Amino acid sequence: MPEYDVIVVGAGNAALAAAVSAREQGARRVVVLEKAPAELRGGNTHYSGGLFRFAFDRAEDLRPLVPDAEQHIAGFMTGVQPYPQALFHADLVRVTEGRTDPELAEILIGRSYDTIRWVAAQGIAMEPAVSLSGIKVGNTIKWSPGAVIRARQEGLGLSRMWFDAAERCGVEVRYATSAMRLDQDARGGVTGVTVRQPDSIVELTAKAVVLGCGGFEANTAWRARYLGRPWDHAKVRGTRYNTGDGLRMAIDIGALTYGQWTGCHSTPIDAGAPAYGDRKLTDKTNRLSYPFGVLVNARGRRFFDEGEDFQLYTYAKLGGIILNQPGGVAWQIFDHKVAPMLEGRYRTGKPVTAETLKDLVLGLVLDQAACLRTLEQYNAAAEDGHFDPTVHDGLGTPSLEPPKSNWAQRLDTPPFAAYPVTGGITFTFGGVKVNDRAQVLDTSWEPIPGLYACGEMVGGLFHANYPGGTGLMSGAVFGRLAGAHAAGA
Ligand SMILES: Cc1cc2nc3c(=O)[nH]c(=O)nc-3n(C[C@H](O)[C@H](O)[C@H](O)COP(=O)(O)OP(=O)(O)OC[C@H]3O[C@@H](n4cnc5c(N)ncnc54)[C@H](O)[C@@H]3O)c2cc1C
Repeated sequence: MPEYDVIVVGAGNAALAAAVSAREQGARRVVVLEKAPAELRGGNTHYSGGLFRFAFDRAEDLRPLVPDAEQHIAGFMTGVQPYPQALFHADLVRVTEGRTDPELAEILIGRSYDTIRWVAAQGIAMEPAVSLSGIKVGNTIKWSPGAVIRARQEGLGLSRMWFDAAERCGVEVRYATSAMRLDQDARGGVTGVTVRQPDSIVELTAKAVVLGCGGFEANTAWRARYLGRPWDHAKVRGTRYNTGDGLRMAIDIGALTYGQWTGCHSTPIDAGAPAYGDRKLTDKTNRLSYPFGVLVNARGRRFFDEGEDFQLYTYAKLGGIILNQPGGVAWQIFDHKVAPMLEGRYRTGKPVTAETLKDLVLGLVLDQAACLRTLEQYNAAAEDGHFDPTVHDGLGTPSLEPPKSNWAQRLDTPPFAAYPVTGGITFTFGGVKVNDRAQVLDTSWEPIPGLYACGEMVGGLFHANYPGGTGLMSGAVFGRLAGAHAAGA
């Protein structure tokens, strides 16, 4: 008789959703193995903004998730546009350049609303994600499509509420316990996990194992191997514990690799951010207001269409583009007109400021003459028109290469500010192949008996880019699925 019904490896959003779901579906003995000590628990989930992207047909569908939103935000419901499945699908297909796996995408999107309701039912309180995706227009807040709701107190709150939910339903959590390898019977079925705990190495047995232990973003050698230069130098935005252990263990017993192994989610962050995520700063090193400014590299040149799309559709690829610029750094330059529109997170930064563009540029470590030329050319190319941050306003600089396609106002109102940024890695896109029961397939495309995966470990959903808020949603959908099927194993 195995010790456990279900062993869940990892303790982030996906793993804890799996553990709670396994208990809900009748597994009696469920254990969560967390490699981190208790004080560093929770994976990337802890560091996240807690934003969930999901499909809904009417603004009213949000009411059960945030019943008192209108008490805090007058007219909340009127500012929200529906986000039907077709729109979520179109966004995912567009930003992944048509490469998202259709079956996985359908599971993710089709189950997103039902799953967010289920997450809320587990005691995860939600709130409107004002500081992440709300833009105030007159007396109303307009929202980036599909990205309206986050966990209360962001990732910190989300992680804490998941641990509370797991505890409430009788899930055991073992901290400082790292899964080392998967154990198998003679038929190849997974029978448990060999773990390293503080004082020993032991074998734990179970009817099923769910891997929810993240990607390889914190593994320098694997970043160099799969992502190539200059990713070995990248700052890690989140946990230092996601070193690809689950992927290695699964591959060691024949799991099929899947998805974009050369790809990752990576965002513009403060150039002075720490090498790994800071438990208190969490995602506050992000610098995502670039659509309202101008981005230049160390050669003083623009290299990206800052106004290509709303930031939640471009930020996850921009980090990598910045990291690949000379020195891996860039500057975001704004004038005073847009200062009130910068995300609150900019307050954690130390901008260079000046009363003229020339003086500003003299304070930057870059090719100053080229930078001044770039800014003058940008100002000359910016067209007159109506600036509207809530739509693609078409206010562009079509004569420039690259153009700025929207929100291109002149830099003409002092004081000016420049924020230094680099590209920080969030999570990796390469993973293992799972089926519609979240079972891990082997290289013969058959399920490995007793093995499930969820969260960042699922390969195939994301390529090159990603629509903001989809990681947590994917973790919840596939975590819930994995736990439920593991319970029936
Ligand atoms: C700064 C930041 C902000 C983000 N903001 C958002 C957001 O607002 N919305 C969104 O959708 N996504 C966001 N993301 C991405 C999101 O956090 C991840 O997609 C999601 O948390 C991944 O969940 P997961 O459960 O797969 O992995 P994680 O939450 O990373 O959990 C992995 C777990 O596995 C454990 N582990 C690793 N190896 C082992 C081992 N050998 N044995 C045992 N345990 C192990 C880790 O310690 C950890 O507990 C953000 C990420 C970061 C870093």
